[in-house]
Amino acid sequence: MEDKTVSERIDDIYFINRWGEGYFSIGDEGHLSVRPDRSLSRSTIDIKKVIDEIKERGVQLPCVVRFPEILRSQVIHLNETFKTVIDEADYKGRFMGVFPVKVNQMREVVEEIVDAGAPYDFGLEAGSKAELLSVLSLNTNKESLTILNGHKDREYLRLALLGRKLQRKMIVVVERFQELIELIELSKEMNVEPLIGLRAKISVKGSGKWSESGGEKAKFGLSVSEIMQGVKLLEENGLKGTVKLIHFHVGSQVVNIQTIKDAISEGTRIYSELIKLGVPIEYMDVGGGLGVDYDGSQSAHDSSRNYSTEIYASDIVYGIQQVCDLAGVKHPHIVTESGRAMTAHHSFVLVEVVDKIGPMTTDFREGSYDDLEKPHILVTNIKEILTSVHETPFQEVFNDALAVKTDAENAFRLGILSLGEKAIIEDHFWEICRVLRGKIKHLDFISEDFESFADNLALQYLCNFSVFQSLPDSWAIDQLFPVVPITRLKELPTEHCILVDITCDSDGKIDKFINLGKYKNTLQLHSLKEDEPYYLGFFLTGAYQDVMGDTHNLFGRLNEVHIFSDVDDPHGFYVEEVIRGASAKKVLNTMQYNAGQMAYNMKKEIDSFVGLKNINPRESVKLIDFFEDCLNGYTYLRGKEEE
Ligand SMILES: *Cc1c(COP(=O)(O)O)cnc(C)c1O
Repeated sequence: MEDKTVSERIDDIYFINRWGEGYFSIGDEGHLSVRPDRSLSRSTIDIKKVIDEIKERGVQLPCVVRFPEILRSQVIHLNETFKTVIDEADYKGRFMGVFPVKVNQMREVVEEIVDAGAPYDFGLEAGSKAELLSVLSLNTNKESLTILNGHKDREYLRLALLGRKLQRKMIVVVERFQELIELIELSKEMNVEPLIGLRAKISVKGSGKWSESGGEKAKFGLSVSEIMQGVKLLEENGLKGTVKLIHFHVGSQVVNIQTIKDAISEGTRIYSELIKLGVPIEYMDVGGGLGVDYDGSQSAHDSSRNYSTEIYASDIVYGIQQVCDLAGVKHPHIVTESGRAMTAHHSFVLVEVVDKIGPMTTDFREGSYDDLEKPHILVTNIKEILTSVHETPFQEVFNDALAVKTDAENAFRLGILSLGEKAIIEDHFWEICRVLRGKIKHLDFISEDFESFADNLALQYLCNFSVFQSLPDSWAIDQLFPVVPITRLKELPTEHCILVDITCDSDGKIDKFINLGKYKNTLQLHSLKEDEPYYLGFFLTGAYQDVMGDTHNLFGRLNEVHIFSDVDDPHGFYVEEVIRGASAKKVLNTMQYNAGQMAYNMKKEIDSFVGLKNINPRESVKLIDFFEDCLNGYTYLRGKEEE
């Protein structure tokens, strides 16, 4: 291998420049830093300084760190990109994007997006009744669109028509024929004209993990024949003129641009045919799907995308233009429903590594547990392997040691080996592994054949968080997220690790990491120091992960901080808001427990011991207080510096 500098080697481990989109980089002190507004070269925020400040304010980790300015930058970038392409192409419609709130319904997130999008009349999309309630209250711009997707009942449709009474541009996207029948009835009853969109089931399917959202078997949308019948029904009811939008959605995280191109061709063909039938459609809604390059490989891998936002916009604008010009119909306004790409970058999950676990983390004990006059042959064998460990090739040592360990397990089960002998064999086995790990640590590059062996020797770093709460897609669909230490990024990491969380679930681990279009089973991290906390960030978690987590093991929502840049501040930032995560009490409450009752029961029981010699009155009060403190406290572990 050619000689690479430390910083180049660190780049090859974490790929920060590749997935960071200019928002993330390594600062002078080797700390990860953030530039929340890409257009300003002025301010970078040192994340270690953010940690110091929030800890001082008593915010416990794990914690979601949010940068609202990144949301703003992403919204502006999307709108400006479309605007530029539309100008260049001399396209006659305008760009009227909407943000689908299901991707992140947090009020602060939606408000920031609405605010950043105001100059562009950027709107919102809802997919359920509760989301409709939220967008009704937030999208007050009369120019911007509110797109209503999802399955709808009469109540949902009534709410939409209420918005119409307020002259909002609320477009009900009809997904099932029945919705159209009910919408016609209700609009007569409420005496207000709807704005209608038709969701077309197109034959193009997405290519990534979410490909099932599109295609003919999709859960949503009308077939071409249903669209024709629908137009007829509306015409009979004098409402043909209310059909304003045609919609399709091929699925989220589209990894291959060809999928978008094909969908655009097919969707625009449907549009132009309907225009020719006299349906006055004004908007073409191409749905979501704009991907995020989680692994930085710019490839058609599941965690990446083989196109940029610029190419995405070009292919949509020029694609629609071409079909329309050929058919001689006017250019529709273009609507996208990008959620993932708007939100993924703006927040990350900050956790502390609290320990390393596994057999290789305890000291080797040479001693014997039994008085072994005639040690078992397996004991002698493993001792010999350890003695000659330095003279033998790694792989051979490992295979031999593993064979002895396996034999020992069988022998123990058969009653041939004593517990003491088994202990000696295990101690030696792990000591051999430890020596091997020490050797491969210093290798820069591990060949592919060697990888699985190296994976076997990986350390487990115990991280104070729950995969199920904070990184659900990592567990559910094996999605990759970049993981990077916050400090020591000028120092070459020496340990090959997998990450485990604090739930009691063996699925609560991360053992797949980004690796340019592939993945690796271990992540290189620094060895832990006794006197210095080690922090990791799980990045690009602002889309879906933020709001989908569950409370497996009753680990609740995380504390959350909102960080803004500030040129006048000595550290270049300020903490605008701290939102406390769920207390144990709150999480228990959702499971029908009553914290007051729980404390009362505890008190009664403790009191019944007072007077007996094990608990005196003073101590009983302390115990009750402690129980109540825990009910009010955070559901996660207390870190080293938080005791
Ligand atoms: C989920 C969804 C979106 C958002 O997709 P992204 O890939 O996150 O941009 C947009 N439209 C519809 C109809 C959806 O269901």
